[in-house]
Amino acid sequence: MANIKSYHLKMVATEIAKNNSVVVVEKLKVKNMTASAKGTTESPGSKVKQKSGLNRKILLTSPYFFRTFLKQKCEEFGSVYIEVNPSYTSQDCSKCGHRDKGSRLDQAHFKCSSCGLELNADHNAAINILNKGTERRKSETL
Ligand SMILES: [Zn+2]
Repeated sequence: MANIKSYHLKMVATEIAKNNSVVVVEKLKVKNMTASAKGTTESPGSKVKQKSGLNRKILLTSPYFFRTFLKQKCEEFGSVYIEVNPSYTSQDCSKCGHRDKGSRLDQAHFKCSSCGLELNADHNAAINILNKGTERRKSETL
């Protein structure tokens, strides 16, 4: 299983690096996201079982391994690799820039409370991440 997962992640990273001159990713704090909910003997954690299931899911997609490999592959293919701060990327409207927690209707849906733009929440966040990366690149190359 581990070999299949590793092979698949490498294949996807290679495809992305090979086919894009600029690759922008979110700088995620994986350690915090996967922190155990077990707690201490004095103050036991809550929902330990649910949290450990979530940890397994996060670790299964191996974001750290994936980004490390993606970065290596970008260097190999001469693509630019950029990591950006993920703050507000899921709350900002990718069309008008309006920031509102309420625009994120649920895990999958985004509807801007200002301009009415409606799209998949991940798609909206991905556009914001790309914009952040290209803006930073512009300011660095000027
Ligand atoms: Zn908007």
